[in-house]
Amino acid sequence: MMRQDLIDAFSRIVGANHVLTANDTLLEYAYDKDPGFSRLPDAIIEPADTAEVSRVLALANAEKIPVYPRGYGSNLYNAITPVEGGIILLLRRMNSLLEIDTANLAATVEPGIFVADLNKEVKKFGLIFPPDPGTIFTATIGGMVAQNATNIRSLKYGSTKHYIMGLEVVLADGKILKTGGKNVKDVAGYDLTKLMTGSQGTLGIITKVIVKLMPAPETQKCLLAGFKNFVDAGKAVKAILDDKIVPATLEFMDSVTIQALGSKAPSSLPPDIKAALIIEIDGITKVVENDMAKISAILQAHNVQQVTVAETEIEQDAFWNARRAAITSLAKSNDIMWMTDAIIPRSKAADMVDKITSIASKNKLTIAAFGHIGDGVLHPTILFNASDKSLISHASNAMKEISAAALELGGIFCSRFQEDRSGQPETYAKQAIKFSLDPNNILNPVNRVKEG
Ligand SMILES: Cc1cc2nc3c(=O)[nH]c(=O)nc-3n(C[C@H](O)[C@H](O)[C@H](O)COP(=O)(O)OP(=O)(O)OC[C@H]3O[C@@H](n4cnc5c(N)ncnc54)[C@H](O)[C@@H]3O)c2cc1C
Repeated sequence: MMRQDLIDAFSRIVGANHVLTANDTLLEYAYDKDPGFSRLPDAIIEPADTAEVSRVLALANAEKIPVYPRGYGSNLYNAITPVEGGIILLLRRMNSLLEIDTANLAATVEPGIFVADLNKEVKKFGLIFPPDPGTIFTATIGGMVAQNATNIRSLKYGSTKHYIMGLEVVLADGKILKTGGKNVKDVAGYDLTKLMTGSQGTLGIITKVIVKLMPAPETQKCLLAGFKNFVDAGKAVKAILDDKIVPATLEFMDSVTIQALGSKAPSSLPPDIKAALIIEIDGITKVVENDMAKISAILQAHNVQQVTVAETEIEQDAFWNARRAAITSLAKSNDIMWMTDAIIPRSKAADMVDKITSIASKNKLTIAAFGHIGDGVLHPTILFNASDKSLISHASNAMKEISAAALELGGIFCSRFQEDRSGQPETYAKQAIKFSLDPNNILNPVNRVKEG
């Protein structure tokens, strides 16, 4: 519980209406999207602008109060669970689109704006902000930057960090830092924009973002392909990339994921399908048509069972809605879900799915696999029911084996429980940066910085 004099002091900064301490409100903010872990904050504070963020942090730092910045709370790894109590700094009031600069293909936004809202506005100028973490209607730009969210368009367009030109960040002691800018080359020496991107709220609070925009593609085509086995699907992915075709998206779902979707699964998928790919191509119409013909031929050569090309936006949305529903559908059909990230070289994605299947059968578990297969980003997701406690040790074992498999294939592994990669000096350097910028460790303490 927070001392009354501190609540009064924070209220003087942001207004009493924006310091929330009612129990049911605190409970709402004790979780992110992973329901397996929670901790009550002492207060929710909603600043209106950078100056208020700066004053809140200066006070929190002086009093050594933990601060957990929060966008919408859609991350899946307890990145905002207030494990040490303290403040949830809720950025939802700072959600303005400040400028669209068509001449410099840039927009300046506050951190609380949703990606879909930004895209709705820039579309009026024939522009897009490409990153799409699968949660565009709820992901805030601040959360995306802080997580360097990867996304369903990363294969062609890259991840969030490729679209961040500059930032305004409030440091732990309240100092306001400006990094980068609208110039294409806007940094000499240390690239602080890149350092802050992916720092998961542990180095500062992002209060403004200059994003890079792209011209909207002339044409977009999307298809859904079903396979009788995932090896064929994996080989088809490799063949598409080997043919130097770069789809905007190349997504994979295995049979466990497809079954969990239930009525949300696209109706065109036959029931005995073991793997599905969603492939979207965008660009100049002639190139898109040419690439679609080449992809169709590759899919046929790899024993595809069924291909459906979306003819309308509604059909296209049906494919994407299925993919976007994967995580929530898996969560609904199981008591316990341990979702992990296995990020491997894209050429090894089929090998990784093969290993996940063997690990599942060896440990007598159900493990779903889905993700951005074109980028080599897979989400092996261990599913089990809480009633059978013996499965917890099987699941822990499976998690270790998945991690070992990812490392063996030249990748990295992240989960809510662990991050595995080689390189102790790297860990040392990260800690040195953290403690020089936040010596009192008030910003998102105990959060382990992971890949998006
Ligand atoms: C169904 C589903 C699918 C998803 N798919 C993907 C995916 O494909 N790729 C992916 O990367 N993610 C994915 N996510 C995770 C998540 O949606 C995204 O990473 C999203 O960008 C998080 O935005 P948010 O506003 O909810 O951030 P939050 O969850 O609120 O915060 C995320 C992190 O950013 C920090 N943070 C938030 N705002 C700020 C700020 N202004 N300054 C400093 N730090 C801040 C928080 O402290 C926390 O560490 C998915 C989530 C769901 C539920």
